[in-house]
Amino acid sequence: MGVEKVPKYDIPVKKVEYVFIELEKMKPHEQLVQKELEAFIKSVTGSGIFWKPMLLAKVPGEDMYLIVDGHHRWAGLMKLGAKKAPSVILDYFSDDVKVYTWYPAFKGDLDRVLKRLKKEGLTVEECENAEELAENEEIAFALVGKDKAFKIPGGLKEQKIVSKVLDEMSVEGEIELIYYGLKEDAKEDMDKGEIDYVFIRKAPSKEEVMEPVKKGEVFSPKTTRHVLPFIPDKIDVKLEDLF
Ligand code: ADP
Repeated sequence: MGVEKVPKYDIPVKKVEYVFIELEKMKPHEQLVQKELEAFIKSVTGSGIFWKPMLLAKVPGEDMYLIVDGHHRWAGLMKLGAKKAPSVILDYFSDDVKVYTWYPAFKGDLDRVLKRLKKEGLTVEECENAEELAENEEIAFALVGKDKAFKIPGGLKEQKIVSKVLDEMSVEGEIELIYYGLKEDAKEDMDKGEIDYVFIRKAPSKEEVMEPVKKGEVFSPKTTRHVLPFIPDKIDVKLEDLF
């Protein structure tokens, strides 16, 4: 199973103008998923080619850029000692840029996951309308299975704890972790038995994405999924040219 399941949208591929931006001028708004970082490093060092430009947005009033898409590329390049990355600068607050979220899902033993979440201090209670509460931002996450749902009260802090636990359990091989772009896809895969549970939360607004970045705060991994009216065409930049 892959790390993420991207929805199949009919978005045209477009050739884009890119510029080289220093990695030091990029600010993340999310934490990382270890497996995705490893996958990127393996890919880029294997081929020696960097083919997917970073998507950035200017941080108002600062000589800095918000990483809209490309946290793992950014962290991976930094780890390799690179200095810059090909980037597309977006007009972030325009209607062309949409923000959604990713839904973490897992295949594995529910009781083990619950035990770990509780050990980290979270409350997990069975709750029929948990999904509705999550969509109204009244709880941190709804944990939804085929015939059971749970609520995890809290907010950003609790979302980070959930992500940390899932990341750790996936690295340890206790669960198979996959991020869905659409909860409908996750539910479909659940019906087919490919996953057991999905965590549901509401996507933040653009203002909610930009604000914490100014203060140097970050969301849990894969909180935001940005969608543009086009998919940037592949570029062909040598990894060695980024040092
Ligand atoms: P996030 O989505 O969390 O902001 P990324 O988009 O950086 O993080 O996730 C890693 C991305 O790196 C994946 O989308 C993958 O398609 C991309 N990728 C994999 N190999 C390469 C490569 N050689 N050059 C550029 N991008 C790559």
